[in-house]
Amino acid sequence: KYQSLAYERVLEIHSQHLAPMSTAYFPKPLLLHQGHMEWLFDYEGNRYLDFFSGIVTVSVGHCHPKVNAVAQKQLGRLWHTSSLFFHSPIHEFAEKLSALLPEPLKVIFLVNSGSEANDLAMLMARAHSNSTDIISFRGGYHGCSPYTLGLSNVGPYKMELPSGTGCQSTMCPDVFRGPWGGSHCRDSPVQTIRKCSCAPDCCQAKDHYIEQFKDTLNTSVAKSIAGFFAEPIQGVNGVVQYPKGFLQEAFELVREQGGVCIADEVQTGFGRLGSHFWGFQTHGILPDVVTMAKGIGNGFPMAAVVTTPEIAKSLATRLFHFNTFGGNPMACAIGSAVLEVIKEEKLQENSHDVGTYMLQKFAELRDEFEIVGDVRGKGLMIGIEMVKDKVSCQPLPREEVNEIHDDCKRMGLLIGRGGIFAQTFRIAPSMCITKPDVHFAVEVFRSALIQHMERRAK
Ligand code: PMP
Repeated sequence: KYQSLAYERVLEIHSQHLAPMSTAYFPKPLLLHQGHMEWLFDYEGNRYLDFFSGIVTVSVGHCHPKVNAVAQKQLGRLWHTSSLFFHSPIHEFAEKLSALLPEPLKVIFLVNSGSEANDLAMLMARAHSNSTDIISFRGGYHGCSPYTLGLSNVGPYKMELPSGTGCQSTMCPDVFRGPWGGSHCRDSPVQTIRKCSCAPDCCQAKDHYIEQFKDTLNTSVAKSIAGFFAEPIQGVNGVVQYPKGFLQEAFELVREQGGVCIADEVQTGFGRLGSHFWGFQTHGILPDVVTMAKGIGNGFPMAAVVTTPEIAKSLATRLFHFNTFGGNPMACAIGSAVLEVIKEEKLQENSHDVGTYMLQKFAELRDEFEIVGDVRGKGLMIGIEMVKDKVSCQPLPREEVNEIHDDCKRMGLLIGRGGIFAQTFRIAPSMCITKPDVHFAVEVFRSALIQHMERRAK
């Protein structure tokens, strides 16, 4: 048991001095004390299975012993030197990271957060294309800086202020909630409820969505565009997947108009999707720019943009890029340790095996409960979309989702939320989880659903 400040005092300080949003997750906010691998402990010693990993960030486990040891060693050696001087952690990390990316994605820019990475990617796209307009999906989330706010199209994150000049949104080809459905699930062990009636391998939904995409290119943007941003699977929007082949065709259309294609791997990268190290590889596409953050540092603030020598050169002719903390020795030493752990502990393989198993287990609940509308995802990025009923597919009201969410917490399971109605539970644990963890999580979730149905029946 640990207590430095009384819980009530913490609430008081928070309400007086800290940004109000961050207490909103549970009616009684969680006050954490310690983490170990996939587990978190609160100030009273209660244990939680962390299935959201600090919003898809703690990639290899809280306080992973190897990462901790490397961080402690570097802490005693050298914390900081800005990019004016060389230090070997940055070169070691650059070599390791670049080896994981296909040619010609070999030039790395180090920054500190996903928003910063996407800001820089926007600049690169504009510098390289000599154009301004950038397209992103409705429902996409790419950051909260004034620049990236223009790319993020998730209602609650929008502000009444003009942001991100030159940003255009396009329809999200959402396989579940979009007008035509789709068939991303051809190679998924779990079928999404499909709206279209054609056979999975001749699915026309993708073609309808591509027509919408062309419509945006023809009507909303200038003749040549700067770029197109896409998450391989949307995270904040509730683990939303696109029809198979969509991104491939969209990339071709963007390139025809001189645009740069950017994969935002902030959530999907570093082996989380199991079958591949990067999300773009699951679509069979090669972006021109890849942005990454979150899992790259297992929770340590760091981020990166990786691009081609050609694009890096276009930026360099226009901008003297400087970032005080980007690529600092602590971040780079930790980044290298994270990459080593992913490889040594076969965490990508674990994401695939345990993630696929978990997807199947949660999909069984979809068959059991009328309010579980869809279970989808890949590897350890899973979404459970809650609906009023499977016929209308209306989102389950927020208060009801809140209750289920809170019940899971009460029983020791932390999961995330997503979607514009906050109707989708998001599951994205550290990649070290085991099948027994999955059994616990599924049973807790089932129990929360049963309690909910009992409340409803009263
Ligand atoms: N891109 C994606 C896909 C994200 O999920 C996020 C954060 N949720 C960001 C960018 C922004 O990252 P950060 O919060 O580190 O600025």
